[in-house]
Amino acid sequence: MIPYSRQSINADDIAAVVAALNSDFITQGALVPAFERAIADYCKVADAVAVANGTAALHLACLALKITTGDIVWTSPISFVASANCARYCGAAVDFVDIDEETQNMSLLELQKKLNSAKKQNTLPVAIIPVHFAGRSCAMQEIKNLIQPYGIKLIEDAAHALGGQYQGLPIGCCQHSDCCIFSLHPLKSITTGEGGLILTNDLELSKTLRLLRNHGITRNNSEFEYDSAGGWYYEQQQLGFNYRITEIQAALGLSQLTRLNEFIAKRRNLAMRYDALLAHLPIKKPLPSENSAWHLYIIELKNAAKRQQVYSALRQAKIGVNVHYIPVHLQPDYQRLGFKLGDFPQAESYYGNALSLPLFPDLTESEQFYVVSELQRAAVL
Ligand SMILES: *Cc1c(COP(=O)(O)O)cnc(C)c1O
Repeated sequence: MIPYSRQSINADDIAAVVAALNSDFITQGALVPAFERAIADYCKVADAVAVANGTAALHLACLALKITTGDIVWTSPISFVASANCARYCGAAVDFVDIDEETQNMSLLELQKKLNSAKKQNTLPVAIIPVHFAGRSCAMQEIKNLIQPYGIKLIEDAAHALGGQYQGLPIGCCQHSDCCIFSLHPLKSITTGEGGLILTNDLELSKTLRLLRNHGITRNNSEFEYDSAGGWYYEQQQLGFNYRITEIQAALGLSQLTRLNEFIAKRRNLAMRYDALLAHLPIKKPLPSENSAWHLYIIELKNAAKRQQVYSALRQAKIGVNVHYIPVHLQPDYQRLGFKLGDFPQAESYYGNALSLPLFPDLTESEQFYVVSELQRAAVL
């Protein structure tokens, strides 16, 4: 089976992990801060906080920005469920902004319309979580301009987009946002097995994030609320979690980061080759992009019946095509909250036709030819 995605682990990655395993500390040592610094430098941002996974990163980002019961948060309906769930963990209500037909990112026009009506109904969100879908940045400048008058917070879900760029700067630089999260799951740009990151230029925010990652506990004398009782003393100052990442994972992350630019270049070349090979087929291809991190290469077929037929034929040919994503508002757990079919028509029609083709750094040219020839066969059936 050619999977739709897969991690790339080389001998250097393995050697880095083995060295970490042989060191004195396999958690809470020097590699986690070193990894955080390397990511912050790569993304040209003041600070990065590494956590257990991308979902934990979203959860802590919401908590640190003080999202709470009674608040409203908006995100995109075409994303992994975690983009929406994170607000609910904090007691907030979630709503969605329909997507743009061309980019599949949150639509600026829909955002503007929804802000206008929410203003009248007094239902403005406290935060918006745009998703850089498939690795392509949202128009952050325009989103920021639209929400600025209302003081709405901005969290970038860049789980797909580490290594991508926007306005000539790395995604993650937080030029227009309060913070940006990445996932380090094996199918994302680089991996630590499981892992996540929160990036920000706000050092008060990153301090809170580090506190929340570690049970809300500090051992730093200068931060104590009470007098220290001795060398063993620590304080829990907020209700936090154990969302830490290990030294073993940070070692892998540091090694993978040295390969990130090569991974993105390979993904981009593979995407360009798909563009060329699919040029004559009657399918919608992704917009070309020099700046996307190319997490996914998604085509759109003519209709849902065609998609079903092509999906089955390619799976039969041992090609691991997939569908990203079932609109979040149509999940049973969200329909129980009152969402229903028809709420976000663009997201729903995209979902009916979408198909993700295999795309990962080590995908070979001959595998790609095979995917395209099988697709061609299936699409004309
Ligand atoms: C993968 C992903 C997440 C969650 O990341 P995990 O590391 O799997 O918890 C969040 N948002 C999006 C858009 C994702 O694709």
